[in-house]
Amino acid sequence: MAKPLTAEQKVLIIGASHGGISMAEQLRKQGFDGAITLIDREASMPMERPPLSKAWLLAAADEEKSGGFLMRQPEWFQENKVEFKKGCDAVAADPVAKTVTLANGDALAWDHLVLATGAVPRALPLSDEVEQSGRVHVLRVPDDAEKLSQAMTNAQRMAIIGGGYIGLEVAASARKRGLDVTVIEMAPRILARVASPEASQYFHDLHQAHGTNIMTNAAVDGITSTEDGLEISITTPSGQEMIKVDLALAGIGVIPDLALADDLGIDQGNGFIVDGDYRTGQDNIWAIGDVALATEGYTQGAMRIESVHHAQMSAEIAAAVMMGARPKTHEVPWFWSEQYDKKLQSAGLVPQGAETIARQGKRDGAMSFWSFDQGVLTAVESIADPQAYMIGKTVITEGTPLTPDQIADPEFVLKSLIGR
Ligand SMILES: Cc1cc2nc3c(=O)[nH]c(=O)nc-3n(C[C@H](O)[C@H](O)[C@H](O)COP(=O)(O)OP(=O)(O)OC[C@H]3O[C@@H](n4cnc5c(N)ncnc54)[C@H](O)[C@@H]3O)c2cc1C
Repeated sequence: MAKPLTAEQKVLIIGASHGGISMAEQLRKQGFDGAITLIDREASMPMERPPLSKAWLLAAADEEKSGGFLMRQPEWFQENKVEFKKGCDAVAADPVAKTVTLANGDALAWDHLVLATGAVPRALPLSDEVEQSGRVHVLRVPDDAEKLSQAMTNAQRMAIIGGGYIGLEVAASARKRGLDVTVIEMAPRILARVASPEASQYFHDLHQAHGTNIMTNAAVDGITSTEDGLEISITTPSGQEMIKVDLALAGIGVIPDLALADDLGIDQGNGFIVDGDYRTGQDNIWAIGDVALATEGYTQGAMRIESVHHAQMSAEIAAAVMMGARPKTHEVPWFWSEQYDKKLQSAGLVPQGAETIARQGKRDGAMSFWSFDQGVLTAVESIADPQAYMIGKTVITEGTPLTPDQIADPEFVLKSLIGR
């Protein structure tokens, strides 16, 4: 067991989003009394990320946006004795001197360093002309959401490149704002990386029913801008024009922010490589949240998980280990999404080649998809059916015996699976 943190030690957390804030909170909850410094390159107070593709794009007033989505009120930082420094970009780090250097030249000292640097959107290669047109957006931070929201005000036709959750949530928000929307997905189905084929089909149908045009097996090769900069044209690899729009969002995934990896000598893959306690190979350096590639804790092998739950859970585990306490075990990953009036809740991970059974819930519109790997439940995706989600998550966690036939039987009582 690691030597517990002492009150004389300093913890520096880089990244004040879901992971970094949870880390500061957990350290205090778990009894750490020493100095915590939390920095972020963003100039604003830390804001929730999930609303950026949903409520933010629909919120009218500026006050609602800035106040309503704050991750913590300003008093929280004082009450928890967390020194928060916004607008501070960590540009260099020294693991021997135990310092981090900011873009303004200041150096911050640490005894433990937590990398909660998250990820940045994968960018499409754009010509200067298209870049300058300001018509191609990405979405990760509040500033992106604000720019996108303003651009939507003056647009009629929008293309969403990438049919993942963020792209689809923006598609739903754009439709609600009256835009004509086309989703362009390279894979044979939307949500191919993260959802079962049955759940993909459900959302495909949902978006089509709301008037969104969905193109699958459609690779985007380039974007050109008209001379007057008023339109952009999206082209296929064979150079054909696919569609002309006023506005596009590139929702083609993210790249973990590993900028400090070389300075710190941390092993990296598709993330900072950490063990199941979120410890990097370097003494007293930890990585949590979207940027952490955990080699233990998941049955599927090394994984980088992008979700609010994972950011919070990894912070809780790492804080416990720092404090010399026994950490809780990894929970089943879970996630939610909102598109139109439908709320998806999913628990577990859908493996390749899973057998997925659809089950209708009791409430109007309630639906769930249960994915089995060699007869063992590994994921449940529920729509407007919180009971199915909760029971499925418990079954996965506890390894409760359950067969695909039972789930396929409408008479089977889900509640019989819990409280045995
Ligand atoms: C639009 C959108 C919608 C989403 N919806 C959902 C949802 O519905 N449900 C869900 O579970 N998840 C959702 N997610 C994913 C979820 O928000 C992420 O998994 C979560 O934010 C990860 O938190 P994090 O702290 O690891 O990283 P991030 O949120 O990426 O934060 C990293 C922070 O580190 C800062 N940083 C990075 N490098 C430096 C540096 N060198 N110096 C200073 N600061 C630095 C960045 O500025 C950033 O603020 C959504 C994400 C987005 C973008």
